[in-house]
Amino acid sequence: MNNKVKCYICGTELNGDDSLVDFCPYCDWTYLGWERELDPDDKDNINHISIRQAKENVSKGLNIWGEPLPKQ
Ligand SMILES: [Zn+2]
Repeated sequence: MNNKVKCYICGTELNGDDSLVDFCPYCDWTYLGWERELDPDDKDNINHISIRQAKENVSKGLNIWGEPLPKQ
């Protein structure tokens, strides 16, 4: 069964479910499924920046690596 999940950072819809690790093609965040349990300032071992920093980057038009986002 496939469910649609939304990127926790930018809201892009991703194919997969919580048991599948998939990354967002827009902001490059690796979807974990347990983001809401993380502290926004914590860094996990998969994404190299915190949720707060990632959301800040996206709001500035950058992906999580600080590079310009692809055009949608
Ligand atoms: Zn995203």
